[in-house]
Amino acid sequence: MFAKIILPPAMGVKNKTGSWRTTRKPKFLHKNCTGCRMCYLVCPEGCISGSKKEYDVDLDYCKGCGLCVKVCPVNDIIMEEE
Ligand code: SF4
Ligand code: SF4
Repeated sequence: MFAKIILPPAMGVKNKTGSWRTTRKPKFLHKNCTGCRMCYLVCPEGCISGSKKEYDVDLDYCKGCGLCVKVCPVNDIIMEEE
């Protein structure tokens, strides 16, 4: 029964959850990135992509939860006003 109401992660790629954002969005600074991929791994919408030390977000699908900012070990992602 529960299987019918629990959605799998990364539904944003189907549903354009970027429209859920209200006031803030992540910004990737591209200064200190080590390529650890933590942001990519934790993003619940699966909207971060990249390789080596160049990761970025597709804002059409980012709901602005801020998880990527929290996990980045080198503070290379910030939240900024829309
Ligand atoms: S704020 Fe970061 S973790 Fe949250 S949905 Fe957007 S890109 Fe993904
Ligand atoms: S979490 Fe930070 S350091 Fe790691 S890949 Fe993402 S932006 Fe780069």
